Amino acid sequence: MTAVSLRGVTKQYGTVHALDNISLDIASGELLALLGPSGCGKTTLLRSVAGLVHPDSGAIEIGGRDVSGVATRERPIGMVFQSYALFPNMTVRENIAFPLSVRRRPEAEIRRRVDDLLDLVRLVPQADRYPNEISGGQAQRCALGRALAPAPDVLLLDEPLSALDALVRGRLRDEIRRVQQLVKTTALYVTHDQSEAMAIADRVAVMNHGRIEQLAVPAELYEEPSTSFAATFVGSRNAVELAVVDGRIALAEAFSVPAPVGAAERAIAFFRPEDVTVAAGPGAKGQPATVELKVYLGATTKMHLAIPVEGGTARLYADLPSRDAASIDQGAEVRIVVDPAHIRAFPVPD
Ligand code: ATP
Repeated sequence: MTAVSLRGVTKQYGTVHALDNISLDIASGELLALLGPSGCGKTTLLRSVAGLVHPDSGAIEIGGRDVSGVATRERPIGMVFQSYALFPNMTVRENIAFPLSVRRRPEAEIRRRVDDLLDLVRLVPQADRYPNEISGGQAQRCALGRALAPAPDVLLLDEPLSALDALVRGRLRDEIRRVQQLVKTTALYVTHDQSEAMAIADRVAVMNHGRIEQLAVPAELYEEPSTSFAATFVGSRNAVELAVVDGRIALAEAFSVPAPVGAAERAIAFFRPEDVTVAAGPGAKGQPATVELKVYLGATTKMHLAIPVEGGTARLYADLPSRDAASIDQGAEVRIVVDPAHIRAFPVPD
């Protein structure tokens, strides 16, 4: 069942197309992440569903109902912001109870519901503390509890983890996912962090200049980026610009693949560091390269490689299991090969 549906939604600020003809369906119970760089339109899209931004054209439906003329407070949504936005003069319990109090729910029902939510977001021990007496992660869990209190059809989360440090961010990300799956709320989650989007979402919409460049499940997005922008933005890929010769692009002896459709003269080949095979020693085959730098990262080691090419030096990264990398020293002359199956190539954008 479709929980949220957007059809041809457009919003322009002066000459900026914040949303450029967006059509999107979010299934019931799905968590969809909106991912993209600053200014791509993620927040405008989220705020349009919330009713805080009014699109110039297009239609938005929540649960099959057109919400164009419906005010934010009348929409079946809950919101979580980067800044927590808790009421400082209310305890955690009172903050979570607030949306129910304003809806004049009976006292006993409010108490029961808030107890359940405190348990859900694991804030029972902090229930009677004020926002300035809890950590950032706890504050955001309180905001999540408050957003879920009226049992909204759609949960809207706008960069909810941005204000937190890395360790808390990872933990709270998993916590949000656990809670969302437990209550089965449909959710729209804005982030500019690709690993966060892939970890938390059922599907990810990659946005650029007010448009959706690719909408896919995380593994597909990672393995099969469908545009040059998606390839650049998701996964830290090597990107090498190459000349098209006889319908193919090649990095000397490292790889040769057919040129992408639409590439007349030049194309960019994208491939991930873990798909670069590095070998040393007399029998090694592939393109000669020099290990400029070795960075030990625990399970893997990142190698910065320099490859002499026509007119200069190409620089690539390779990620190797550290055990394999141990026998290759910094400064070593190696050979590299990239499996053509893992190369995505796109015409050079104008
Ligand atoms: P960020 O991650 O930085 O929040 P975003 O992807 O959420 O970025 P939006 O906030 O949706 O981007 O903005 C999309 C574009 O619309 C930007 O170019 C922005 O400057 C512009 N914009 C957004 N709101 C307004 C406004 N109220 N008035 C004028 N321009 C706006």
